[in-house]
Amino acid sequence: MKRILVTGGAGFIGSHLCEKLLNDGHEVICLDNFFTGFKRNILHLLDNHRFELVRQDVTLPVLLEVDKIYHLACPASPVHYQYNPVKTIKTNVMGTINMLGLAKRVRARVLLASTSEVYGDPKVHPQTEDYWGNVNPIGIRSCYDEGKRVAETLMMDYHRQNKVDIKIVRIFNTYGPRMAPNDGRVVSNFILQALRGQDITIFGKGDQTRSFCYIDDLLTGLIQMMEVDDFIGPVNLGNPDEFTILQLAQQILAMIGSKSKIVYHPLPSDDPTQRKPDITLARNKLGWYPGVSLKTGLKKTIKYFEDLLQSGQV
Ligand code: NAD
Ligand code: UDP
Repeated sequence: MKRILVTGGAGFIGSHLCEKLLNDGHEVICLDNFFTGFKRNILHLLDNHRFELVRQDVTLPVLLEVDKIYHLACPASPVHYQYNPVKTIKTNVMGTINMLGLAKRVRARVLLASTSEVYGDPKVHPQTEDYWGNVNPIGIRSCYDEGKRVAETLMMDYHRQNKVDIKIVRIFNTYGPRMAPNDGRVVSNFILQALRGQDITIFGKGDQTRSFCYIDDLLTGLIQMMEVDDFIGPVNLGNPDEFTILQLAQQILAMIGSKSKIVYHPLPSDDPTQRKPDITLARNKLGWYPGVSLKTGLKKTIKYFEDLLQSGQV
């Protein structure tokens, strides 16, 4: 049994991770400022004597004794990270420095939840970890993209300079139950629009592509990466099945049997035209690959949002 800190533990990915780590028998400390996380995501964990909740901002130093740190705290959807871009950068830079400082002091292993956004609007397709990316340093996505790039740099420098035990994971678009209903991400938006009979809002022509990984697959990869020795990454974790945004809309409409009509809005600036992970490294180093198809994952996610609507929580 280990004592594990999960920053951003009340969020979408973090809450599933806390739950899984508790089920695996560990002690879990969830640190979150509830900017984009919800109490309802972790309510069912509060009675567990191995679970602790710390309401704190990761940009402030924290004194804890832990064996491992999953550093996830950061708003992840464009709507949320662009709400207060300066805070997003602070969260990525100061938050990561604080977690690395903590890891250095208590000799904990620290894993950074980085992102496929470090590849920007990629000129290499599918994206491999050795690609340095095509990122606009002054655009509206930069607070997040460049923030995560600096976070990766900090991880590497603490590793080289202070021998901190690090792991860098580049997460590609992930979806599933507990995604924030108001975060504007494509999967939650389309499902809620289809369930409510509202127009499905496609940005651009809908020919941009994304590859969607179901939360359960991602969790397995995160934990395998944390547990493996002699490999610090960065490693891509994502589902290589690539879909256009129009295909995603059609799939969701068909599964819900919705009569919503598709409408087209302007494409936000710097919106990547294509994205698909090359997961050869994850396969070779971790033996990891995703097993949940888009249809299966969407079915569970649709059920979650149906229940949320029925219970009046959105
Ligand atoms: P989320 O918004 O649901 O969760 C983020 C959590 O961090 C929230 O609970 C939020 O309240 C908390 N948080 C934000 N700023 C904080 C701060 N300053 N101090 C303390 N807590 C703070 O997002 P998610 O989808 O669960 O993403 C988790 C991590 O994974 C993020 O770092 C994100 O960049 C990364 N990631 C996610 C995806 C994805 O598709 N979901 C893709 C790539 C990377
Ligand atoms: N998108 C869309 N309609 C929406 C929300 C998003 O067409 O209501 C598009 C968005 O422009 C992008 C893709 O879907 O091309 C994925 O968007 P999301 O915000 O989910 O993730 P990211 O752009 O960060 O990969």
